[in-house]
Amino acid sequence: MRRALPTLLCLLFLASFACNLPAQELSRPPGKNVILIGWDGAQRAHVRECMERGELPALKALVEEGAFVDIDVITGATDTKAGWTQILTGYHPEVTGVYSNGRYRDVPAGLSIFERLKKQFGPDFVCVAVIGKRGNVGEVLPPTKRELSEEEAALILKLQQEARQREKARKAAKAQAASSGVQEEQPAAQIDRQARQQQRALRRALQLPADKAERETARRQAIRGQIVEEAGKKYLVFGGSPYYTMHKVCDVWEYGLVEDAKVGSRTIELLEKYKDRPFFFFVHFASVDANGHRYGENSKEYNDALISNDLWTGKIIAKLKELGLYDRTLIYVTADHGFNEGERGHSYAPFIFLATNDPAVKRAGMRQDIAPTILDRMGVNLSKIEPPLDGEPLTKPATKPVLKAPEKPPAPKAAFKAKASPQKDPAPRKKRFAPAPA
Ligand SMILES: [Zn+2]
Repeated sequence: MRRALPTLLCLLFLASFACNLPAQELSRPPGKNVILIGWDGAQRAHVRECMERGELPALKALVEEGAFVDIDVITGATDTKAGWTQILTGYHPEVTGVYSNGRYRDVPAGLSIFERLKKQFGPDFVCVAVIGKRGNVGEVLPPTKRELSEEEAALILKLQQEARQREKARKAAKAQAASSGVQEEQPAAQIDRQARQQQRALRRALQLPADKAERETARRQAIRGQIVEEAGKKYLVFGGSPYYTMHKVCDVWEYGLVEDAKVGSRTIELLEKYKDRPFFFFVHFASVDANGHRYGENSKEYNDALISNDLWTGKIIAKLKELGLYDRTLIYVTADHGFNEGERGHSYAPFIFLATNDPAVKRAGMRQDIAPTILDRMGVNLSKIEPPLDGEPLTKPATKPVLKAPEKPPAPKAAFKAKASPQKDPAPRKKRFAPAPA
């Protein structure tokens, strides 16, 4: 017995040392939380005007404590996949492989804010994503490679061709409707019906899975995949959705909630659930982009969606205050892209913003600067990040040129990569929706 005590103490000492080993690599939680709120498709000029009219009280209150700075899109398309990928990583498309909604892959492991924070602070640090859209942000299709028979390869090629033709027809119908001022519902519905018929035929031929969700996954992989030939065999290769790998480290990853009320109330529930742990939330509202496509950027509906995004942003802030968390939570509101002035699309819409209660945000920047800003404020050492981030934190003077996107795309296809231009804000715009006097 007398000999057992020192041995036991020694063992205890060794055990505690061993337990501490992995913990030494982790940093202490930052003492701050971050909520990144996405207003998908919110055009900077429209947001500013809306705020000046007093229609966005939650955003205005944040900005009074922190800042509202111009953000320009310099690399990557002004669309959803390119936008949120850049915002959630801090890189140019050459690093992530995500250039646009049509040209993308699963972002390589380790590059997202979620993965970096989990790596630095360990499993107790909470990462959450609550996402409004069903596609282009949030969806998590895995990368795949599967061998195809000659018949399957031929069928898939046909399907892809038909999908391209439908897309063309849909665009033509839209353009026709825009020029004649007629609602385009009819032809669009017709095209959708044709699409469904073709898909049913394909499903039978390819024997896609019976489960609805799995079947939809397989269908999208088939449409988006590339047929490659290796050693005389044909394969369907699909690079995955941008968010596939990053979503795996998150405690909660939900998408396709569509309505602002669902996104907002789910976020509030999860704040309640994780209130005692340090966290990073990505909250994404889809209604501004949806209404922009349906009714146009200058419509009352687009404006109403901004008001709705603000309302739910305000409810999230109210919940943080109720939980006593607001004083140590940094909130960043931004958009993946803007909207073409007065139009129903965002083919070239590089003018976005960052609105925040973070008083340390000091300067305007580019879309790739948002992730570095968040990581820096959470205490991540940016100089140790590999590969080096393309963006720089907005809390410090820039060491690289801060580029402004030109008001017009400099050349056809320029939406992909806008070049530097010395100009400041876009010129004053034409008529804009404003509420009629009561
Ligand atoms: Zn859109």
